[in-house]
Amino acid sequence: MLSSIKGLMTTISEFFRPIVTAQYPEKHLPIADRYMGFPVLMYDDVVDEPYCTGCMVCVRNCPTNCMSAIMKDNPKNESGESKRRKIIDAFEINLGRCILCGICVEVCNFDAIEMSHQHELSVVNRNGNRANLQQLLEMGKSYQKETNWAPPVKPAKESKE
Ligand code: SF4
Ligand code: SF4
Repeated sequence: MLSSIKGLMTTISEFFRPIVTAQYPEKHLPIADRYMGFPVLMYDDVVDEPYCTGCMVCVRNCPTNCMSAIMKDNPKNESGESKRRKIIDAFEINLGRCILCGICVEVCNFDAIEMSHQHELSVVNRNGNRANLQQLLEMGKSYQKETNWAPPVKPAKESKE
């Protein structure tokens, strides 16, 4: 009898608790600012070119070998419009193999790649979810707009006097 009353009390208290789940996919819950979705490439609106120089550091450090990149000489550097001597020419991430570890973001010295809020990119074909440079930049621009993203300010180097 006592346990039945306890059970009833639990049911009643649960009834008044706020609902924290949603009927997916009809309803989406808000995504936390620090949510780590798929990696995307950032775009430098000031110079009008990607931040990525194609240096391959992320490619070499990716634990699942799901990235590839090709660099080229930056024509905007020759004309004095950009400080980047090299620029990305082709980039691909096989999102089906990405484990969202964030290592590519950690190792990038150019603030060129970020873990976005992208997460609904499922496809039915194996390896059918390869994102190219254009797609990664488009997703990056959406992320930049959505979060007001700006490259982190690096601490100034101490002068040796
Ligand atoms: S995303 Fe960063 S680490 Fe990767 S190739 Fe571009 S500049 Fe290099
Ligand atoms: S998040 Fe991890 S697995 Fe995905 S592309 Fe970056 S380094 Fe590779």
